[in-house]
Parts: sequence; C-alpha cells; structure tokens
Amino acid sequence: MITILLDNGHGNDTPGKRSPIWPDGSQLLEWQFNRDIVTRTATILRKAGIPVECLVPESQDIALSERCRRANVFARRGDCLLISVHANAGGGSGGEIFTYPGARQSVVYAEVFGDTWGEHFPELRFRGCKEADFAILRGTLCPALLTESLFMDNPDDCKILLSEQGRERIARWHAASIEKILKQFFPGR
Ligand SMILES: [Zn+2]
Repeated sequence: MITILLDNGHGNDTPGKRSPIWPDGSQLLEWQFNRDIVTRTATILRKAGIPVECLVPESQDIALSERCRRANVFARRGDCLLISVHANAGGGSGGEIFTYPGARQSVVYAEVFGDTWGEHFPELRFRGCKEADFAILRGTLCPALLTESLFMDNPDDCKILLSEQGRERIARWHAASIEKILKQFFPGR
C-alpha cells in the first residue's frame, strides 16, 4: 500500500504568485488554483480506492518546514509519494516537473508524469523533468515531485488554468499519472 501526499503550494497571504490581470478582468491566484487541483485530484484518486492525504487544508500559506513535517509523519509509517502542485511563471508554455538533485526514484516517477502528459495535453509541450533544490523536495523522506502545469503569465496557458475544463484536464493528468505509477511499481497494493 502506498499513500499519495498532495501539497498545494503557497497561500492566500503569499505575495506575488498570481497572473497578470487580463483584458477581460480575469486573474489566476496560484494558491487557489493549487488547492483546486489538489481537491480535484484527490477526488479522482479516492474514487479509485487510492489512499490520499491533503497536507494543507488551510487557505493561508503554511511554512515549508511544517509541510515537510506533516508529510514525514506519513512517510515514516509506510510508502508514500508526495506531489506538490503548482502553476509556472517566468515566460514559456507547457508543463514541467521538478525533483530533488540525485533523487533517482523521484525521477522514475516524474518520467511517468512526463510520458502521460501528451495523453492529456497533445497540443502543448512537456518541457521535461528537471532537478531543483526546493525545500519541499529536500525535506521530505519519501519520493517527491513538484508539478508545474502551464504558465500563468502566458495568456493562452492561463486561459486553460482558469477554465473549468482546463482544471479537469490538469487534475486528470495528475491522477492518471499516479494510477500508472501504482500499477507499475506497486502492483500488489
Ligand atoms: Zn508555485
């Protein structure tokens, strides 16, 4: 049995971490998007009978050290996989995934997410699995991935991030990738 730990980055008190205000008045707040994707993904996984823990039920930002502490309570009890959900910024388009430098099992799982991307976003590029020394990846005892689903500062990407249909696609990409990982690496779960 493996437990999926879902982390939703940032909080309603985090400065920045939002899209520009678009001409139609819409704006993406990343904390809200991350929480919505975690909720949607958890719903799909629970329907499939997969144990899920949402690490941050709060709306406000929770310190990364506390997020890691919460994750490690579960990671000490048994197999876990942590997914930290984010939207990207800084110019670009498409999806990418980060793992901690040298975390080989995390890379194996990240590649499953990468392989699954095209089934959900055939029109958008998967930019690859990359390494980064992020606190949520460094501080967790279990394999951990940080997903960046599209760019909130790209108008076309952000339209998808803001839409109901787009969010369902992003949640399904997460859930389908997790289900593939469980099938492939935890067949007896
Ligand atoms: Zn973020």
